[in-house]
Amino acid sequence: MQVATGKSILGGIAIGPMRIYRKEDTHLSASSTRTPEEELARFDAAREKAKEQLGVLYEKVLGEVGAENAAIFEIHQIMLDDDDYTDEARDIIRRQGATAEYAANATGEDFAATFAAMEDGYMKARAADVKDISHRLVTILTGAAEGRHLGDEPAILVAEDLTPSETVQLDKSRLLGFVTRHGSTNSHTAILARTMNIPALIGVDFDDSWDGKLAIIDGFNQCVYVDPASELLNAMEEKRQADRKQESLLQNLKRKPNVTLDGREVKVYANVGNASDVGLALQNDAGGIGLFRSEFIYLENEDYPSEEKQFEVYKRVVQTMAGKRVIIRTLDIGADKQAGYFQLDKEENPALGFRAIRICLARKDIFKQQLRAILRASACGTVSVMFPMIISVREVRDAKEILEECRKELQAEGIAVGQVETGIMIETPAAVMIADELAEEVEFFSIGTNDLTQYTLAIDRQNPKLDNFYNPYHPAVLRMIRMAVEAGHRHNCRVGICGELGADQKLTETLLRMGVDELSVSPPSLLPLRKCIRSLDLSKSQDN
Ligand code: PEP
Ligand code: MG
Repeated sequence: MQVATGKSILGGIAIGPMRIYRKEDTHLSASSTRTPEEELARFDAAREKAKEQLGVLYEKVLGEVGAENAAIFEIHQIMLDDDDYTDEARDIIRRQGATAEYAANATGEDFAATFAAMEDGYMKARAADVKDISHRLVTILTGAAEGRHLGDEPAILVAEDLTPSETVQLDKSRLLGFVTRHGSTNSHTAILARTMNIPALIGVDFDDSWDGKLAIIDGFNQCVYVDPASELLNAMEEKRQADRKQESLLQNLKRKPNVTLDGREVKVYANVGNASDVGLALQNDAGGIGLFRSEFIYLENEDYPSEEKQFEVYKRVVQTMAGKRVIIRTLDIGADKQAGYFQLDKEENPALGFRAIRICLARKDIFKQQLRAILRASACGTVSVMFPMIISVREVRDAKEILEECRKELQAEGIAVGQVETGIMIETPAAVMIADELAEEVEFFSIGTNDLTQYTLAIDRQNPKLDNFYNPYHPAVLRMIRMAVEAGHRHNCRVGICGELGADQKLTETLLRMGVDELSVSPPSLLPLRKCIRSLDLSKSQDN
């Protein structure tokens, strides 16, 4: 038996075989040890396989959200047969003796640069498509695709690291847990694991021999046991059952009010990343959705999700919540959440860079598509819209103006629109300092303590070396929260918390005493948090 330690993202136990996920080697070999004929045959076989995969994707998307959204996969199939594209790749193989993957990658880069330099907006956008098909070929040719899926049996995924877009695309029904060498406990990948209730460890030093072996992730003790002895396996299985029993006891809280012993009502909502998490939110009796991280729709897709596609997703969420409040946060892409087709430049300081509302205000076309979809969904239930990464009143006014423009357009088109409350994330020190002015503009604040901690303490939340310095209990962060709550209340603006700190029971009493009105947490944290709220008596002094 081997024991390796790491940092736990979620207390919990996972038991199962491990599968190592190897990403493609980015240093593609320019010269091949095979003959050009062999490489040409590999290239053609990969194209056939890619077309097959795209055909499957086409059918899936067609069934789920219709022909308009599925069309992109047909376009990719056609591009794989394009003579200019295939001739250039073949030429590189023949003349340079290169590998098929090198040729596919080089051709993709070359075509993408040509498309990107074109004036015509439609042709410009094809740059992302040609990169995408080349990436698909490289993935097939390097065998990286085999590492992506977990096999037929449920498994623990082991990887160097996982980006948020990779994590959202994993098949959750076969994912028992995951272990990575890199990554930070404050990253969006970690947040996703918590939302999905998947035991995960990061910072684990693994080796290739783990592939296929049985393992136990012990999220409580922050370690993974490889090839565990049978006594340990039995003991951990018992611990897992006990853990599940504890969870099911909490089910008694369902439908009971969230009131403290002294009678204060607290709204408890769920944070979700996609429509399927909403089931988890309902199972755990969420009072609503306090944060729908809409950017995950963008991360799950290979191209900009259309208004129609987004509308279908939002409508499903809103209808599933059946009248309960759903707060949809507008696109918060950038920093660690990257989708290739946005073609965002590489930045020195991505957390301080072109992200979230900054992209939306600069790319009004994308923003309007999303706002129209949200407004349309608002006709099916109770919807609020929330803008992320706000630092100025100007941004809020501009965003609201675009929202209003979309409303008018829809009404002119005879499309039903409901009442939509507007709110903002308070996640920058700037927003806290001008919270009085901001509160005049909106109906609610939601404090994003993950970013607020990052920006207040000048700690990159993605940097694992800084995990020990990332301290959301820092007095500066707690004072920021208090200031935002007090400013909000001075202007009749409700104030909630949707950052991870909202689920931290060590702080629940402190936050409620500050006056926080609402807490929004990952679905597995809902019932434990409600139990905690119902045990508090705010009429007594805190030290008692
Ligand atoms: C936050 O910053 O606290 C937040 C909820 O947003 P995200 O974690 O998605 O950046
Ligand atoms: Mg944030």
